Amino acid sequence: MSGAGGVGQMEDRAIISVRNLVKYFPIETGFLRRQVGVVKAVDDVNFDLNEGETLALVGESGCGKTTTSHCIIQAQRPTAGHVLFRIGDSAPMDLTQMEKAELKAARRNIRMIYQDPYSSLNPRMTLLQIIGEPLVIHKMVESQEALRNKVAELLRLVRLDPSTMNRYPHAFSGGQRQRIAIARALSLSPKVVIADEAVSALDVSVQAQILNLLKELQNQLGLTYLFVAHNLAVVKYEADRVAVMYAGKIVEIGETEELYTNPRHPYTEALISAAPNPDPDTKNRARIVLAGEVADPGNLPPGCAFHPRCRYAEDRCRREIPQLVEVGGEEGPSHRAACHFASELELAGISGGAEEPERERA
Ligand code: SF4
Repeated sequence: MSGAGGVGQMEDRAIISVRNLVKYFPIETGFLRRQVGVVKAVDDVNFDLNEGETLALVGESGCGKTTTSHCIIQAQRPTAGHVLFRIGDSAPMDLTQMEKAELKAARRNIRMIYQDPYSSLNPRMTLLQIIGEPLVIHKMVESQEALRNKVAELLRLVRLDPSTMNRYPHAFSGGQRQRIAIARALSLSPKVVIADEAVSALDVSVQAQILNLLKELQNQLGLTYLFVAHNLAVVKYEADRVAVMYAGKIVEIGETEELYTNPRHPYTEALISAAPNPDPDTKNRARIVLAGEVADPGNLPPGCAFHPRCRYAEDRCRREIPQLVEVGGEEGPSHRAACHFASELELAGISGGAEEPERERA
C-alpha cells in the first residue's frame, strides 16, 4: 500500500487532504509539437475534506474545479502534489503514488457523479447492468440473484421502483437518470462522493429534489461530499464549507454562512451578488457585473490573476501574487482568502440564507 510519509499532515477530521496539487497541460505547436507554454489548470491547491461534511468547490467555468476533482480520483494524474486519503484510524494513503491495481481498490471508496445524466449512462445497458457493473467488476456479489437483490436495494435507496431494473435509461426523465447515476455511485458503499455539477443540467424543481435526496443519503449513510458547482444558490443550502477557485487557485475558503455574510475576496463578492437572494432586506442589492472573461490559464496576467476584472485593484495587485492567508481571526473556524486587501475591503455579502429547496419528490 502506498504510504504518505513526508508529504504533509492530514487534519484530524480529514478523510482527504489535497496538498500542493498542480496540474499543468503543455501548449504545443508545429509538426514536432514543440512546447511553447503551459496551461496552469490547477496551481498549488491545498485543502482538507473533513469526514461527514460537504465541501463545495465553486467558480466559473474554466477556473480549475473539475480538473481538481479529476486529479483527486486520479482520473487525471496530477503534475505534482499529493492526495492523501484515510479511512478511520488507518494510515493515510497517497493516491498520487498508487499503481493501477491499488488505485482500483482505493476508488471503491471515492465515487463520482457526473453532470450530464444523459451521456454518463450507457444507453445500451439496463439499470441492472448500469448499477450492478461496479459490483461485478469488484467481485462484490456471488450470484445473479445477489446482484438483483443489491440493485433493487440501491434503486429503493434513490426512490426508484426496483421493478424497473430491466429497463433502459431512455425510459427515464433527467432527474430519474441522475438518481440512477447516484445509485451506481453508491453501489460499492463509498466513503466519499464527488458530485461534479451533479444538478446543473436539470430543471430547477428537479434540482431541488436531487439536492434533497443527496442530503438525505448523506445523513443516512454518513457520506462525505465534494460538491463541484458554479451556482452559489445551490451551494448555500448544500455545503458546510465553500472553497472558491479562480485561475487554478483557491482564492477563498471558509464556512458557508461566514463566507456568504462576510466574503473577503472580491471574486467571491461578485459571485454572491450574481446568486439569487431571498433575504427581503438585501433582495434589491446592486449586482456586481464581472467584466471580461475568466483569466486564460495558458496566459495568466501578472500579480493577482483576478486584477483585470477586480474593481478594487491597485498597482500592487498587478505586481504581487497574493497568498491564501487566514482572515477569520484567532477565534472561531478558519476563513482564508488570497487578496492583498482582504482585511481592509468592505465587501457585500448576503445574510438570511438561500431558500431551502422544496421537499416533494418526483
Ligand atoms: Fe482585487 Fe487586488 Fe485583491 Fe486581487 S489582490 S482580488 S486585484 S484587490
